[in-house]
Amino acid sequence: MTTTAPDGRFPPDRPAVPGLVPFDEARRIVLERIRPLPPVPLPLAEAAGCVLAEDVAAAEDIPPFANSAMDGFAVRSADLAGATPEHPTRLRLAGEVFAGTARLPLVEPGTVVRITTGAPLPPGADAVVPVEATTLDGPDVLLGMAPAERGFVRAAGEDVAAGTIVLRSGQVLEPAAIGMLASIGRPVVLAHPRPTVIVVSTGDELVDPGEPLGPGQIRNSNSFMLAAQATAAGVHAFPLGRLRDDVAALEAGFTRAAAEGNAVITSGGVSVGEHDYTKQVLAELGDVTPWRVAMQPGMPQAFGHAAGVPLFGLPGNPVSAFVVFEVLVRPALRKLAGYPPGRLDRPRIVARLAEPVRSPAGKTSFLRVTLAPGPSGPLASLTGAQGSGVLSSCVAADGLAVVPAAERGLPEGAEVEVVVLREDWGP
Ligand code: AMP
Ligand code: MG
Repeated sequence: MTTTAPDGRFPPDRPAVPGLVPFDEARRIVLERIRPLPPVPLPLAEAAGCVLAEDVAAAEDIPPFANSAMDGFAVRSADLAGATPEHPTRLRLAGEVFAGTARLPLVEPGTVVRITTGAPLPPGADAVVPVEATTLDGPDVLLGMAPAERGFVRAAGEDVAAGTIVLRSGQVLEPAAIGMLASIGRPVVLAHPRPTVIVVSTGDELVDPGEPLGPGQIRNSNSFMLAAQATAAGVHAFPLGRLRDDVAALEAGFTRAAAEGNAVITSGGVSVGEHDYTKQVLAELGDVTPWRVAMQPGMPQAFGHAAGVPLFGLPGNPVSAFVVFEVLVRPALRKLAGYPPGRLDRPRIVARLAEPVRSPAGKTSFLRVTLAPGPSGPLASLTGAQGSGVLSSCVAADGLAVVPAAERGLPEGAEVEVVVLREDWGP
């Protein structure tokens, strides 16, 4: 599926640190080369979480007709001047109107009509008296209040008048926006489709869960983890499985992935290993190029377009793959999905370090931390050993503490930005 047009200079020919591309620049380069998927008409039921690509005006008033805000009685307010709980006014019950009733009785002077919430206000009536202020007495109703004109009535167009723009192009279709589209009677909207992302792992050593583990073999964790991360980012993710480290298998696998997806994520085979044919095959399929991003974990990566779709080559180490996905791939997938610039990245908060941390000079570090309330704002504590093979450090993480490339470490109590990973985390 060809979805984005490669453009711009890649890789950058003059990185700030020779051989290493600063993290922020890598992020900028990646995002620059991603084009949102062209908008398509989407049925409402599929549009939740997608990004709108048209301004939407209400074709109808909401509500479409004046209706009752309460269960009670539709009245002529003039009949009830001076009515109080102590001195209720007696009027004759002359009919009923329910939500959905089309043929409405006329409310004559001296009469009332029973009405339910949302039912159209019948002709003649100009107010509603809530049932709580009334008592039935044979054929009559005793009404213990004098409602204002239009009292307890929702006017036609009170929420939205026909012709009003209710949603703007570029807006994310959150649940309330979907409700609004349904309210104004729109079954289909023009929106960016949810991207389909194919996740591929490479490596002869990999064995899927459920299969026996032979000598020298390890579990393929990345396919499943990256697909789960992509799903959490709001795209359709499909793990295509493992590809063996040989040219024919990689060529066939990547060609299929690019044909079936709007983007491909691959892990493994982008470092300088002996049997890493991945780089060679990817270069042949397009302009996918290895580069070293000045970040830890996750330095060796590849990026570009293969058979016309963006391809993110992540390191094989599970922690590296996890982190690179969160800070580089996730924003790119959201751009592909049409998200606006301010909504690409996970939110960041400022926290204080509960302990001193170290960081390699010249690389941005993303340390896995828990977040807890502290005396002066959130407190970030390391989740344990930070090695790039220690996946348990990610499991426990509420966030990624960002140590800038210029720092070789930070003392306890220092302020750090933390990329918040848990949507429900709150101080
Ligand atoms: P590579 O980037 O291919 O050199 O792999 C780096 C390390 O990550 C090696 O220890 C691999 O065994 C490991 N690795 C590669 N792919 C995966 C995967 N899909 N799941 C878990 N570990 C992996
Ligand atoms: Mg490998």
